[in-house]
Amino acid sequence: MKKNVLNNQEEAAAASVRNRADARPTPARRVCTGCGKSLPWEAFYLKGVAQIPDRYCKECRRGIAVRYRAQRSRQRVEQAFRDVQRPLITTTSDAASRMKLILSARNFVLASKSRRRAKNAAAEDRRIDKELDEEETRLDQSDRENGNLKSGTEKRKDYGENK
Ligand SMILES: [Zn+2]
Repeated sequence: MKKNVLNNQEEAAAASVRNRADARPTPARRVCTGCGKSLPWEAFYLKGVAQIPDRYCKECRRGIAVRYRAQRSRQRVEQAFRDVQRPLITTTSDAASRMKLILSARNFVLASKSRRRAKNAAAEDRRIDKELDEEETRLDQSDRENGNLKSGTEKRKDYGENK
């Protein structure tokens, strides 16, 4: 009986050590600061020359970017209205002039929105290009590890590019 209790304690201690080891991220995984999930490195954007994985996983990072853009967008619209409302409220009593100011504010907001849309689309394109480059680098690396020593340029030639 006493031996059983001892065995149970030992078993519990061993299980506790195992659990702690499971909770620790292995080198191939990383815990996201945003969602707290332990994810493989592929789930993170790699940053800088050193290619250090981001603190946030790709999904959380996209969420942050979307919220940030929405917030900036709101701030700009509010600022645009503050800028035109000042003369509107304080100096314009005439309805026609007031309408002119409202329309010019509206045009300002629409123009800045479409500029921002174009900018965001360009940034998204660059981001995808970068990801594809990274993917190609990874594939090249695994090719090299598998004994296929062709460079990326040679491979692109195989696929009919760079003619
Ligand atoms: Zn996350």
